[in-house]
Amino acid sequence: MNILSQDIKYLQGVGPQRALLLANELGIKTVGDLLAYYPYKYVDRSRIYKICDIDGAMPYVQLCGQIFSFDTMGEGRNKRLIAHFSDGTGSIDLVWFQGIKYAAKSYDCRKPYIVFGKPTVFNGHIQIAHPEIENAPEHLKEQARTTGNLFEDTPVNSQFSILNSQLSSQFRPSYNTSEKMKRSGLNSAAIAKLTANMFKLLQQPLTETLPPYIVQQHHLMSYDEAVRNIHYPSSPEAMRHAQLRLKFEELFYVQLNILRYVKDRQLRYKGIVFNTIGEHFNGFFYNHLPFQLTEAQKRVIREIRADMKSGRQMNRLLQGDVGSGKTLVALMVALIAIDNGFQACIMAPTEILAEQHLDTLREFLGDLPVKVELLTGAVKGKKRRAVLEGLVTGDIHILVGTHAVIEDNVMFNQLGLVVIDEQHRFGVAQRAKLWMKNNVPPHVLVMTATPIPRTLAMTLYGDLDVSIIDELPPGRKPIRTVHMFDAHRPRIYQLMNRELELGRQIYIVYPLIQETEKMDLKDLEAGFEEISKAFPNYKVSKVHGKMKSAEKDAEMQRFANHETDILVSTTVIEVGVNVPNASVMIIENAERFGLSQLHQLRGRVGRGADQSYCVLVTKFEIGETTRKRIQVMVDTTDGFEIAEQDLKLRGPGDLEGTQQSGMAFDLKIANLARDGQILTIARDTAQSVITSDPEERNPQNDILWRRLRELRKDHVNWGAIS
Ligand code: ADP
Ligand code: MG
Repeated sequence: MNILSQDIKYLQGVGPQRALLLANELGIKTVGDLLAYYPYKYVDRSRIYKICDIDGAMPYVQLCGQIFSFDTMGEGRNKRLIAHFSDGTGSIDLVWFQGIKYAAKSYDCRKPYIVFGKPTVFNGHIQIAHPEIENAPEHLKEQARTTGNLFEDTPVNSQFSILNSQLSSQFRPSYNTSEKMKRSGLNSAAIAKLTANMFKLLQQPLTETLPPYIVQQHHLMSYDEAVRNIHYPSSPEAMRHAQLRLKFEELFYVQLNILRYVKDRQLRYKGIVFNTIGEHFNGFFYNHLPFQLTEAQKRVIREIRADMKSGRQMNRLLQGDVGSGKTLVALMVALIAIDNGFQACIMAPTEILAEQHLDTLREFLGDLPVKVELLTGAVKGKKRRAVLEGLVTGDIHILVGTHAVIEDNVMFNQLGLVVIDEQHRFGVAQRAKLWMKNNVPPHVLVMTATPIPRTLAMTLYGDLDVSIIDELPPGRKPIRTVHMFDAHRPRIYQLMNRELELGRQIYIVYPLIQETEKMDLKDLEAGFEEISKAFPNYKVSKVHGKMKSAEKDAEMQRFANHETDILVSTTVIEVGVNVPNASVMIIENAERFGLSQLHQLRGRVGRGADQSYCVLVTKFEIGETTRKRIQVMVDTTDGFEIAEQDLKLRGPGDLEGTQQSGMAFDLKIANLARDGQILTIARDTAQSVITSDPEERNPQNDILWRRLRELRKDHVNWGAIS
């Protein structure tokens, strides 16, 4: 049996209890899983510092010396244990706020230790909180006991081969573990012991996971060398090579999976050919278009048009910032479908948005003979039956709806185009379900106002071609954004009063706090009371997710009709609602929102010709990253710029939409924010494998398809796209 598939429980140092923890907390069930559990950083342990040389600005340092005495200080929550530690050149304090009993019990005075941690300065004295401590190795013991200077005659570089008796690496791996694991003693150091034990088992070289020609082409390290060096690098060089190899491999297989799926889709489905540009499109374009298209709109319509007559099924992502005019693009390409005798369907994520689309389209179309109908959960009884029938007969040209339209009983006469607006609520699997609505699958256009950085798009929506509207219609004034603290409330009220007097409307958004299952509406309710009192001459309404959907829609409608002046809400207003008269967006506790969410919310104003404002309110004390994030919002209104910054500041795992995307997202080592270049190479390489070996007959590639099958078993998401 392959060692890698062995149950982790039998690895030396694990046992049944730890095996359970490893499986539940980290998903590590086999030796192979542990092998693929890479360190998140390394610590250079080739160097021992003298206490007299360190200061609070240094990163992690390693010291060698003895504890002279222990003190406990403080009471209750402030209680801490202090060990006075010296190496003969000076002394520092080792401090514990937690695990005090355990620490006091574990370490002895006057015994030589290696201490490792981050020095900080507290009350003018250097200390290390929660240090890692281990017994000093033999050759340092004697010296550590002497009071003289330990370092005079100690060669610095050779010291630590002894610490890692099995693996001679100057780098010590740090592994992420959970709180629960730490409480049971399974901290980073304990995991390192396990990986060291694992490599004792893995004496034979590990089987290569990429074909030799690809390894050679990109001068990659072998798989065997790479996994050994990723845990215990033999040199900084080797560490970099190992990382590069494993990142490449990871991204390569993600791309291979996606691109192979794209190829299969193209083989399996032909695309409907739309040859004609006819009276519907032309009638609209020449007689009903209320303004000139922007250059960007023209370009994406051309791109879509090229897809639609190519004979291949279109699968295209249309990215365009809020207000860039995507709805109009959707309408115009729907008219092309109609000109060719087909129906179109436009899907929105919420009922209110679907209704808004319906109104917008009908208004745009005027007296043109195009029948647009609505289908949502709220359309019931006789009306619903009529819509369903109109779809089957082909009477209805454009159906606007929510996900209700993907239900099985909704059938079309000839569905030729599906437009999905605000896609991130639609997974790949849901999209695929739409195709079954026709013998030949319809063309699919996915629209999003959440700009996605290129690297992320290549992975999350790697199966889609991308069009971008990078231009706003002329005459829009950029929204002015300011950061204010709670204490600035009077100035915020001043701004509100001024805008209200001008007849404008205002949004105030509170974060939705989901500490428990039930959401906490305290802030929103309190805010509503306060605002109602502070603006007695204006009408204030509120909307939140706990309201019934009809009630919610009614409130939003009242605001849209300017029956109310101020709308206090949670993020339910995030997507799509269009109230051009609203000119102020106030976001409370802005620090609790993600950047793209802030951007999305801000996009609710600035829809008319007047100057609009966005006020981001935070408490006075905020962390460095939060301050940077808020600053990004103040500095730019460019959604792509914001998305890039968001990716940098938060990492891809947290980005909205990534969880629901249905695409692989549990990258272990590659980082989409930083590894864009590797990603591009990986994608090109995967593409050339598919192009050069479409039938998968080249024996050199056998290893690839086998590996892909294995990976698909491990990554449930990967299967979702087939
Ligand atoms: P989004 O891309 O956010 O969905 P919309 O389609 O809602 O944007 O368009 C925002 C507003 O801009 C709408 O009122 C729309 O009528 C208007 N609009 C769209 N295209 C143009 C254009 N070329 N010139 C002027 N206004 C436009
Ligand atoms: Mg829109």
